[in-house]
Amino acid sequence: MIWKSHIFYYGVCPRKYYLAFVQRVKVSPTKEMVFGNLFHKVREYVSKNENKILKNVKGMYELEEIVSEYKKYYEDSLNYAVTENARDLERLEIDVEEVNDLLKKDLDLYFISRAIRAKRTMDSLGIEKDELAFYLAPEWNYVEYKIIDKKTGFAGIIDKIIRSKNEFYPVEIKTGKPLLEGVYHPHRIQACFSAILVENKFKIPVNLAFIEYTQINESRPVLIDESLKKEVFKIKEGILKIDNGYVPPKIQKCGQCEYKGVC
Ligand code: SF4
Repeated sequence: MIWKSHIFYYGVCPRKYYLAFVQRVKVSPTKEMVFGNLFHKVREYVSKNENKILKNVKGMYELEEIVSEYKKYYEDSLNYAVTENARDLERLEIDVEEVNDLLKKDLDLYFISRAIRAKRTMDSLGIEKDELAFYLAPEWNYVEYKIIDKKTGFAGIIDKIIRSKNEFYPVEIKTGKPLLEGVYHPHRIQACFSAILVENKFKIPVNLAFIEYTQINESRPVLIDESLKKEVFKIKEGILKIDNGYVPPKIQKCGQCEYKGVC
């Protein structure tokens, strides 16, 4: 199977795919990567529990009271993120206090933004509790949703899928710095890959996906069209070529690539 991470690595640099998945070279993640994973995990935990959180929100609540409902999930989401990244935190000797401080600051802002969304929805639609939870975070919300598609040979865990009536929109969550405008191309490729998976799973066309940049709390759209899909299938061909013995050359711009030392 070709997984979402394979497509992303190849999209960044074919040689990176070769080193990581053919040569299986192990490199330590950078501190930035570990922090990225931690931010990802706290959001995942909150998303998975948002239905329960919103079921407790009454129509008369002020913003601060809604934030307090979210804050009840502080400790559990921090523990979940730290446990999931325990090995890397230990390997890089990252101080857990430092992690907690950073994650708490991030969660404070995140909870306020979620609470504002809930407050605005309650005020404009006149709904609360169960109805609010159903509207903003239905139980069938797809978080970390795994799809294996035998037809294309593609597989991946989609960060989030938003469903609005019969429309499905895959969302990729990115914790790194966003571009000033638009979307980093490997992210577009990854979003298209997820869209193909969702399309084949639910048997409906997916014309739009989103990249959620957590640092600026903004979701940027990615139009899914035929030319982007062709690019994804071209990458599939490239991956199969590497799997069959082709060694891709180095590229010019390696940026912060974690394989620099072994490439
Ligand atoms: S160091 Fe450069 S050429 Fe090597 S894998 Fe990374 S990005 Fe590609």
